[in-house]
Amino acid sequence: MKLCRFSFNNKVSYGVIEEGAVYETDSPFSGVVKKGEGRRLEDVRLLAPVEPSKIVAIGLNYRAHAAEFGKALPEEPMIFMKPSTAVIGPEDEIVYPSHMSHRVDYEGELGVVIGKRAKDVRVEDAASFILGYTCFNDVTARDLQGKDVQFTRAKGFDTFACVGPWIETGINPLDARIETYLNGEKKQDTSTHDMIFDVFKIVSFVSHVMTLLPGDMIATGTPPGVGKMKPGNIVEVRISGIGTLKNIVVERA
Ligand code: MG
Repeated sequence: MKLCRFSFNNKVSYGVIEEGAVYETDSPFSGVVKKGEGRRLEDVRLLAPVEPSKIVAIGLNYRAHAAEFGKALPEEPMIFMKPSTAVIGPEDEIVYPSHMSHRVDYEGELGVVIGKRAKDVRVEDAASFILGYTCFNDVTARDLQGKDVQFTRAKGFDTFACVGPWIETGINPLDARIETYLNGEKKQDTSTHDMIFDVFKIVSFVSHVMTLLPGDMIATGTPPGVGKMKPGNIVEVRISGIGTLKNIVVERA
């Protein structure tokens, strides 16, 4: 099932997408009930499919990505956070923070959307706390990540958390293909099978640190092949079984 948020005639709703049509629904966190007539997907504007209270992100979760940065493999998940204010949706603009950074990278990632309140969840129970999966771009000011001790600035600029185009509830997160394209050229291409800590271990681990709320997101780390973006570039994160999240980089006004 594909779940989305969309706007039509200035009204924002959650939706279910079926065969190219969008049906309004109440919050998917309390059960999906289709309402009314479907609208054509091309007639609505898709928004970020969730409004997370927080985004927890995992650093160095693919062996080959750790190797490309010359880092040792972590013994437990390395977590950091991105602010909810960084979220943008499909086709929205990534604003290049040229007042502070001169090296901004894409990081294509599998995004996990939490479906219900999760605290101290066991690995074997984790699946039941997940609503679904979406494409995520963990945009990063790489120069500031190196300069600052904390990741907050490098990962926290407005528009640095691209989410969408929708949530897919039915994929196998243990073997999904993630590809990232910059101006149509493939830059990343890896299976989530290569994660050091899989999705269920991550949800369990994070839930033993902080309570996860419905709509919270976990960005599960990027595979190798990260690289820089410039204003005017189009970046796409494509995940098998989900779809393609497309954004354009623009100059700061
Ligand atoms: Mg990342």
